[in-house]
Amino acid sequence: MTTTAYIGLGSNLGDKAGYLKKALELLDAAPGVRVKKVASFYRTGPLGVTGQDWFLNTVAEIETDLSPDDLLELLLDIEGKLGRVRTVRWGPRTLDLDLLLFGEEEIQSARLTVPHPRLAGRAFVLVPLAELAPDLVIPGHGPAATLATELAREQPVFFYCSPGK
Ligand code: ATP
Ligand code: MG
Ligand code: MG
Repeated sequence: MTTTAYIGLGSNLGDKAGYLKKALELLDAAPGVRVKKVASFYRTGPLGVTGQDWFLNTVAEIETDLSPDDLLELLLDIEGKLGRVRTVRWGPRTLDLDLLLFGEEEIQSARLTVPHPRLAGRAFVLVPLAELAPDLVIPGHGPAATLATELAREQPVFFYCSPGK
């Protein structure tokens, strides 16, 4: 069975755009995953843990034959390949790959919560997501585009470059 899923990508260390692009290549090259669309790259300030470098974020729409668990495994594997080291929670990272939405599935397990629990409060996720799928309904919150516009008032998100550049 093929499912449409959305992946949030973020980097705030080193060659940020390079990490996002490499991650997209590795995702597309993985068996059972096809990257269908990629939003613009957006620049945002750090949330939560301040005093670290700014972030580059984007969102990819994929089609996958993988299960949510296998997809998470792949995301963690790509993070590891691109040098992610977990030290401080929400601290600096070469690459963060989060599973935002997996079709309409709701998942609550020890390793995985979908929809991503902090999705609806983050402009840096909602703005690129709304660029790809403005009418997509975020469960409990309404259309991505409406939510993105509201959140972006308090959390500025700046266009950085198109994904192809
Ligand atoms: P946040 O979740 O607030 O964006 P983060 O992305 O920095 O923080 P990580 O260190 O990347 O957090 O992830 C820690 C763990 O979160 C992962 O090992 C994974 O098991 C778990 N997790 C739960 N739900 C998800 C999800 N939807 N996408 C990615 N990881 C998830
Ligand atoms: Mg994250
Ligand atoms: Mg993560």
